[in-house]
Amino acid sequence: MIVIMKPKSPMEEIINLKQKIEGENNISVNVIQGKEYCLLGLIGDATEVDADKIRANEFVENVKKVQQPYKLSNRLFHPDNTVVKIKNESIGGDELAVIAGPCSVESEEQIVSIAKDVKKSGAKFLRGGAFKPRTSPYSFQGLRDKGLELLKIAKEETGLPIVTEIMSIDMIDKFVEDVDVIQVGARNMQNFELLKQLGKIKKPILLKRGISATIEELLMSAEYIMAGGNENVILCERGIRTFETYTRNTLDLSAIPAIKKLSHLPVIVDPSHAAGIWWMVEPLAKAAVAVGADGLMIEVHNDPANAKCDGQQSIKPKVFQELMEDINRMISVKMNREYEVINV
Ligand code: PEP
Ligand code: MN
Repeated sequence: MIVIMKPKSPMEEIINLKQKIEGENNISVNVIQGKEYCLLGLIGDATEVDADKIRANEFVENVKKVQQPYKLSNRLFHPDNTVVKIKNESIGGDELAVIAGPCSVESEEQIVSIAKDVKKSGAKFLRGGAFKPRTSPYSFQGLRDKGLELLKIAKEETGLPIVTEIMSIDMIDKFVEDVDVIQVGARNMQNFELLKQLGKIKKPILLKRGISATIEELLMSAEYIMAGGNENVILCERGIRTFETYTRNTLDLSAIPAIKKLSHLPVIVDPSHAAGIWWMVEPLAKAAVAVGADGLMIEVHNDPANAKCDGQQSIKPKVFQELMEDINRMISVKMNREYEVINV
């Protein structure tokens, strides 16, 4: 971190600020006196230094961060990729992890039938919302507890680990018992109290990017979970809101290599919520694999036209099967990417 003092700041004030920063943090401060400006260079781990507090000093012109504000999710301090283990599967390792299933659990028949189909095509995890965050309170809100029970039945039938979304802190105990990967949806990415509580458990957390969240904000949310002691975090790019209205969101493919460079955490892509249109899922899923995603999350429904939620973006099992065949061919020529630490 570099503090730029206002021109002609009294040396006494500069020294006072240097001593204050050193006194409040485990850091040493170098004073660099130029012709016009005086700079303070903070040496050491400045992640916990409050830049705004320094900015509030009347002799400070600006404060520039040269280090990312996240530590635990930063590749700088953890050069190797994190591989999150879930039962006999993993996300972030050499294999592409595919999570597939309906937007929401609707009935036993529906979830079991889709689970069997996606497993046959090579999915390693079953998704399905039991508690649904809907824009309208009048839309289907999910089968709730019953939905969790049905996911468990589908898991018993297929052996596929379950990925499903949590909505609030009071659901944590139930989810720890029944769910293999706890999904934090886009709308809850900055529900910091929820993130803190999820940091206290060891279950893998799938953290989806908020609709207007920057990559840094996503990583800071991961940091909340990790700071509590839970390092099993998987990030998910699911499209961000832009001025474009043709698609539901805009898939930010550049976020994948960017996050892989900045962080050691696995990153998957959800092309279904990004596009909001079923026929775009296939090309976007392939693009995600090409740019180095560690996995995919895809909405698959056996009867999209009558789905209770997100039918327009759900692909049928047959289309999913063809997509998986294509992706397997792509993976056989997969480019091996090494992500070096960024020097700051
Ligand atoms: C979902 O995965 O069903 C979902 C609601 O996703 P998002 O939080 O990305 O909108
Ligand atoms: Mn959905």
